[in-house]
Amino acid sequence: MGFTKLGLSPNIMKALTEMGFSKPTPIQEQGIPLLLQGEDLIGQAQTGTGKTAAFGICILEKLAAKPVHNAGHKVRALVLAPTRELAVQITGEIQKIGKHMQVRTLAVYGGQDIEKQLGPLHAGVDVVVGTPGRLLDHIERGTLRLSEVEVVVLDEGDRMLDMGFIDDIERILQKTPPSRQTLMFSATMPSEILALTKKYMKAPQLIKVSEDSLSVKSIKQYYLEVSKFDRLNALLILLAQKKPHLALIFVRTKRGADRLNDILLDRGFRSLALHGDMSQNKRDRSMNAFRKQHINILVATDLASRGLDVTDITHVINFDTTDDPYTYLHRIGRTGRMGKDGEAISFVFFDQTSLVGILDRVTDSKMEQIKIDVKPELLPKRVRFIEHSHEREGGRGEGRGRFGSSEGGRGGSRGGYRSGSGGRGGGRRDSRGGGRGRDSHR
Ligand code: ADP
Ligand code: MG
Repeated sequence: MGFTKLGLSPNIMKALTEMGFSKPTPIQEQGIPLLLQGEDLIGQAQTGTGKTAAFGICILEKLAAKPVHNAGHKVRALVLAPTRELAVQITGEIQKIGKHMQVRTLAVYGGQDIEKQLGPLHAGVDVVVGTPGRLLDHIERGTLRLSEVEVVVLDEGDRMLDMGFIDDIERILQKTPPSRQTLMFSATMPSEILALTKKYMKAPQLIKVSEDSLSVKSIKQYYLEVSKFDRLNALLILLAQKKPHLALIFVRTKRGADRLNDILLDRGFRSLALHGDMSQNKRDRSMNAFRKQHINILVATDLASRGLDVTDITHVINFDTTDDPYTYLHRIGRTGRMGKDGEAISFVFFDQTSLVGILDRVTDSKMEQIKIDVKPELLPKRVRFIEHSHEREGGRGEGRGRFGSSEGGRGGSRGGYRSGSGGRGGGRRDSRGGGRGRDSHR
């Protein structure tokens, strides 16, 4: 079935054709009719299956149906996203779908000069896509009024309603009219979060695409058992042998991302880091370089685990494999998008192997074991020798050892992975940096 049957307006149809969207994905096909009827909706569909366009089309159709610009420049649609990068990406997609309409869409996020956002907000925007912290700043300054909002979307909805963000979300929603349509989208919807939605939604319809499996079948999942000592060398050899076209490597901490990135650069890889301690300029530079494939490796924290749609990521590598199955699912979902092939490779320490079963159960898939021969002669050669005085802990040339030992130490305290499914326990939430989820903690 093409988009025609959904009865979309000609301007939107034209844009979709230009974007190369010939037929709706299942979440679009099932969701858009309900959305257009004005229903509240929780849309759960696997990673990379076009959830953005599903709500983007709904927003734009709503605007097209009642094109009033006399509302005193009031915002008519609000999309909330957990990270700045995702807010920017969603804005871009809505702008593309709305290309032939007179719609002003603005991304509002931290890290960008707040004054810069004032001009467009003052001139009037129809759609605001933002991160909670910065949205609240604008609300508090009186530069963003939400009293005319007709539709609110929580993208990555389960993340937006978890501990890190919920207080901010609640404060933002209070500024919107109760008559609003509320939509939530994610690939995962844990039951305790689902229970919370009652408070914010009116008899929401629940659409669950491919209930049988949360993970995408086109992603081949592998794991690699390593010792703490060998892990870094195993990664270097893996990268040298696989020569990934575009790889996203996940690590646990911001410092870890910088360190690993430095080591990769030392070894001649084209890589950059992405994490929440970097300036927004640097974050943008990393993201753009990765999107444009000027680099082929991005070393990131879980900042990059949700929502990002980078064309042609061929490999997701969990250098620090997460023990949260939902995070795992979102991480690997950065590859294998829209039915493309992808590989996910997760490093597990010997005392962590039970984790493989836990992740398998939740993703309803089976990771295959791969092995790497960790021989020094297989290591890619050092190409440079850099100083990183700002973050050095040990002596020069100990990059590897430093990694090994610090991770080793940490490994001990993290040793006991929670058993059982789901397991979104307090530990994970504590690591969120507690309290207010102003933008990203990662
Ligand atoms: P999700 O939010 O479900 O993870 P996205 O909305 O990021 O997925 O979409 C994944 C990719 O698929 C994007 O590059 C998007 O432009 C593209 N896409 C969305 N809908 C269609 C469609 N109907 N046909 C072709 N490509 C699509
Ligand atoms: Mg998405």
